[in-house]
This record gives sequence, C-alpha cells and structure tokens, in this order.
Amino acid sequence: MNYISTRNKSLNFDFSSIFLRGLAPDGGLFLPKEINKFSESELKGLSELNYIDLGVEIISKFCAPVLNKSEIKLLLDKAYSNFSVKNIVEIKKIDNINLLELYHGPTLAFKDIAMQVIGLMYEALDLNKKKINIIVATSGDTGSAAIAALKEKKNINLFVLHPHEKISNIQRKIMTTCDSYNIYNIAVKGNFDDCQKAVKQMFNDEHFREKINMSGVNSINWARIICQIVYYFYAYFQFSSKVNFSVPTGNFGDVYAGYIAKKMGLPIDKLMVATNENDILSRVINSGEYKPLKVKPSLSPSMDIQIASNFERLLFDVFNSDDHKVSKSMKSLSVNGSFKLEEEELKKIKENFIAEKINDTDTLRIIKDFFVNYGFILDPHTATAVGAAYKIKNKSKTIVLGTAHPYKFLETIKLAIGKNVDPPKQFSDLSKKIEKFDIIDNKLEDIKKYITEKIK
Ligand SMILES: *Cc1c(COP(=O)(O)O)cnc(C)c1O
Repeated sequence: MNYISTRNKSLNFDFSSIFLRGLAPDGGLFLPKEINKFSESELKGLSELNYIDLGVEIISKFCAPVLNKSEIKLLLDKAYSNFSVKNIVEIKKIDNINLLELYHGPTLAFKDIAMQVIGLMYEALDLNKKKINIIVATSGDTGSAAIAALKEKKNINLFVLHPHEKISNIQRKIMTTCDSYNIYNIAVKGNFDDCQKAVKQMFNDEHFREKINMSGVNSINWARIICQIVYYFYAYFQFSSKVNFSVPTGNFGDVYAGYIAKKMGLPIDKLMVATNENDILSRVINSGEYKPLKVKPSLSPSMDIQIASNFERLLFDVFNSDDHKVSKSMKSLSVNGSFKLEEEELKKIKENFIAEKINDTDTLRIIKDFFVNYGFILDPHTATAVGAAYKIKNKSKTIVLGTAHPYKFLETIKLAIGKNVDPPKQFSDLSKKIEKFDIIDNKLEDIKKYITEKIK
C-alpha cells in the first residue's frame, strides 16, 4: 500500500515512512492511494473471526508489504495481552443503547487500543536503530496511552504536551506518575489546540525534525486510524444488520475510522458526531462553515478541541480528491480563520454523518439518568454520545462508543451522581505516587529549547 498527502496526491510513501513521519512534508495528512471494499463473502468470513484475527485481516491491508500478517498477529497478541477483558472490547445493551466499551486497556481510554500497537510498531518496523524522539500533544488521554505504550523502550524518548490545568486530575496523575527515564511531561500554558499546533510546527520545521529524528503518535498518524477501524467491524458483526455509530468526537480520528470502515464495505447507516460545546464539527456538518472558535473548557476535556485535524482527510474525499482545493481551504483556514463548503460537498458529508452538540448541563443529566435508571456509570465523553444517540431518527440500531472509564473523571461523576467511582485495581495507589512534570509558556521556541536540552 502506498500513501499520498491530502495536499499533494503525487507524493508516494510506503507504510514505514508515513508511520515514522506522522505528518506529510507539505503539512497535509497521509492517505492510502486506494481503499478496497471487502466483498459480501469476505465480510462473512471476517464475521467469524475473533478480535485479534479480525484485526490482522484489516490492519494488514494497510501495512503491506512492509509488515506481513504473521508479524501483525504477533504485534496484536502482545499489544492486547494486558487488557482486562478477554475480547479486548465489550458490548453491553442498556435500554436502547448498545454500548461498545473501548476502555479496558492499561490507561482506561480507547486510545490504548491503537497506542499499544503503535508502541510495538517502532520495533517491528526496525525504526529504533537510531534514537527517535516522539512528540505528542494530548487533550488528556493520548498522553497516558502513549506513555504506557512507550515507557522504558530503548532508543525512544517521549515528550508529552498537555494543556496546563485543563485536563482532569486523574488524567494528569496517570501521565505524570510514570517513573521512566525516557518520558517527559510538559504542561503548556495554553489549550489543546496550542499544543497540537506546536507539534505540527515542529514537524514542519524540516531542520528541527531531522535534527532530533522526530516522530509523532497523534491521531493524525494513520496507524492510529487503522487500529480503530477494527472495532467498528467487530461491533457490527455482533448485530449484522445496518447500524449507526454514535462517537464522542474531538480531533475527528475515531469517527473517521468508522467512515473508513464504511468505505471498506461495512454496512454503516449514519455516523453520529457527538461534540461538547466545542462544536466546530457539528457546526460544519450542519451549516458547511468550518470556523474554529475559542476553546471552551468543558466536563469532557478530551474533546475540548476546535481544530479537528482529521477532518482534512474527509475533505479530500468530499472535494473529489482535489488536492489543490484541500490546500486552498487549509490556507484560507490559517489566513482568514475559516472556509466554507459548497452545497454539493455538504450533501456528501450528510450522506454519512450527522452531528449533535451536547452541553455540560445535559451531560450531567445523562450521567445521572443512566445511573438512576440502569445503575451504570458513564464517563462524560461517552455521555455526550449517548445523548446524541437518542436523537437519531432512523430505524437502524445504534452502537455508542464508550471511550473512557468514569474513574478518569471522578470529580464530574461526583457532581452528577453524588458518589465516588472506585479506582480500578491498577490505580488503587495512584494518589500516593509522585508526579513529575514541567510547566512551560505557550511559546514554540521555549518548547523546542526544552526538548533540545533534554535530549543532549
Ligand atoms: C480522544 C478522546 C475522544 C475524541 O476522539 P477523537 O479521535 O479525537 O475524535 C473522545 N473521548 C475520549 C475519552 C478521548 O480520550
């Protein structure tokens, strides 16, 4: 499989290069040259596989010829050996909602599902001969998942940029109590978009990127997306009739993986993009104008994002693979602060996606109702997707993606139901552990200087 950039389709990279680089040299995002559809009989065959074997079939499509199926099988077996449920993910039926729990990995959020695999890919692709410096921006969950996947890996340093005081206490503690020589936590005095922008600027600085042999594991890395496609297939096969998915959305990575699953032939009806008050995606899907506003802190901090990077990948399709048009829109975004979609383009988006905004008041009410009626505690991100799922009008069954364990958002749960959530076993001594992180001004030069000094 070869890869192009959303801003230049004549580029040609193999899987290994796009994995290491994360972002295309022109600032665009990598996309596979083509995506093949599974036939009906192939889908039938896939439906009989367990989670890992299904993962091998799907992921290998995108990694060939760099990694073969048996190499991927080894990766997945190892990556998921520390998940706390046998099938990696679990589906629960609660009221009309089919909840797909994706948070049974080491850091209690769905990010583990891709990140545990990615952590092992550096070795499998033989990329860690030369020291690699991975820089990642996090809105709270990516950072801890990356740390769990990369701690104590030789020849890899990991720098995690999180927005200072804008993530939950437990999210921060899980990240900053990891005592490993190769992990650096940086609290940037800004919001997630600032962190992500700094990472993108470092990637686009060819000299800096080469100098430190930089790599990235944010959801702009295509490897994240392909690992996330798997659970859409797995969940669909539990029902085998047309389904909707409702997805708590921030950077548009998770729900975009659902869109790729649909392109690969999975009979998905609608993909519901659930947002909190940072509703850029529900605004663009409902009105056609992509216009980031100021980030508002909310009760679902991992979705406090206004620049949904992966949306650029969808634009490439919506613009009929017109790479110039993607570049032009992105230019307009950085110069004028917005761009507008044409009616035809918006229509194409609406064939696949619907969107709802769920505010904090509703999020609290949903958590409370769910607890009172069914004795089940939702985390605030999943709660937005549950709220959005109830607004879907078609006849298909809806599967809600459960993206985090409620323990990560203790304070919010307490606010909603007046009760504490018990820590899962692996975090019972979290409060006693010592935190380690450095606070840095939201200035690119300061961040670069910090990194350069640490890796000397
Ligand atoms: C990252 C995250 C999201 C948003 O996922 P995107 O791929 O960025 O859209 C939703 N919920 C939780 C708990 C997350 O950690």
